[in-house]
Amino acid sequence: MTFLSDDVVQAQWTRVRSRLRDEYGEAAFKSWLNPLTLAEVRDGQVRMGVPTRFLRDWVATHYGDRIRMLWSKEDATINGVDIVVLPGMSRAQPAAQPARKAAAQVAAPQVDVPPHAEPSNVTDEIGAPLDPRYTFDNFVVGKPNEFAYAAARRVAESDLVSFNPLFLYGGVGLGKTHLMHAVAWHIRERNPGRSVIYLSAEKFMYRFVRALRFQDTMAFKEQFRSVDVLMIDDVQFIGGKDSTQEEFFHTFNSLVDQGRQIIISADKSPSDLQGMEERLRSRLGCGLVADIHATTYELRLGIIGAKAEQLGVDVPRKVAEFLAHKITSNVRELEGALNRVVAHAQLVGRDISLETTQEVLHDLLRANDRRITIEEIQKKVAEHFNIRLADMHSARRARQVARPRQVAMYLAKQLTSRSLPEIGRKFGGRDHTTVMHAVKKIEELRSADSTFAEDIELLRRMLES
Ligand code: ADP
Ligand code: MG
Repeated sequence: MTFLSDDVVQAQWTRVRSRLRDEYGEAAFKSWLNPLTLAEVRDGQVRMGVPTRFLRDWVATHYGDRIRMLWSKEDATINGVDIVVLPGMSRAQPAAQPARKAAAQVAAPQVDVPPHAEPSNVTDEIGAPLDPRYTFDNFVVGKPNEFAYAAARRVAESDLVSFNPLFLYGGVGLGKTHLMHAVAWHIRERNPGRSVIYLSAEKFMYRFVRALRFQDTMAFKEQFRSVDVLMIDDVQFIGGKDSTQEEFFHTFNSLVDQGRQIIISADKSPSDLQGMEERLRSRLGCGLVADIHATTYELRLGIIGAKAEQLGVDVPRKVAEFLAHKITSNVRELEGALNRVVAHAQLVGRDISLETTQEVLHDLLRANDRRITIEEIQKKVAEHFNIRLADMHSARRARQVARPRQVAMYLAKQLTSRSLPEIGRKFGGRDHTTVMHAVKKIEELRSADSTFAEDIELLRRMLES
């Protein structure tokens, strides 16, 4: 067995790190490899720590072999690399720490960790892993999300429970999950002793149903009731599942009563959540409710700039403007578009230009062009039936305006991804049950009356062209 001094090992680790950075690039390094900490080198084994299971699996499958090769180049006696989860470990762990001290330090928040066993931790057991890219630093703030951002930041920074629950809502791909992970990272970094659990509502349900099956609901309850901060993402999925709702409600109440922080996200406001019991809805809305609005052109431009910088690529202003102008749906799609453009440029070894961007994204651009709005539908339908556009919103119930209005509601349901309450709001603040009724009515008429069916078909084709 060789016994190297801390300094030697540390210098080797520094070289391995910089090789990794060179080979995989700054962006990948920052996301995946930077969180790696050297724990110890012993008996030909290198032990490295990461903060989550997700990172461990990711790093082991994608970079494990390369890391082992680089280490054995540094020291021929090394024949294996172990990547383990060291929960409670801060992500901002400085790399330049003497190896043995680093090991003691990362293990500190854990009591009695056996030296070679992987520490198991409740947080890791029931929660889901956090994405290392989803931090406050990487979140671009603009008008549409500044309120949600400020609220998340406040919750992350205060030790006292400020608003309970914090309820974040907004359309898909607008940054809800990102903000929740950012809160979790921030708390874990600042205060590793606090237990923060993040999980999707689906996973919560799954766990609960499993506990029911194994008649282990006591343990299930205990797990959740001992956390400091509980985050449940996409809570709209709990709608309709009665027993899970019931359990969620109890868990929720007991955590609130104990002064624990809860953060919830959903795609709708508490009052619009369907299939949700009234008392749960009102409980969810009694803290701070913050919505994330659709992106604006400025925000999209800012996000492209930030992502390009993260990727370390030069995106010409014209291209950035073009993307911000064209990909308006959500941030996820915008990000995907940029990644495609960058990957293409790197593959063919050319600079990013407006021409190549249009070429690479032609399918996506077509889909975005064709996105239909409720306003367009209202306008077309009003023209078609020769009524005033204002009657789409008015309270008039005369058949000659009510029927076209129902047609427009029906088409809005078919051709857009808006929810029933959202559609109702666009039609003079009508209730979602009114929209539901309209959809049913039009479906009935369609199957009963072929002329009417053709009329609807015609409208649909006009709108889609
Ligand atoms: P949601 O949970 O609301 O569906 P996500 O949080 O998953 O959306 O965000 C989708 C993608 O867009 C993620 O990769 C996220 O990092 C990115 N994103 C969303 N909003 C922002 C923002 N304001 N700044 C930077 N990235 C963002
Ligand atoms: Mg999400």
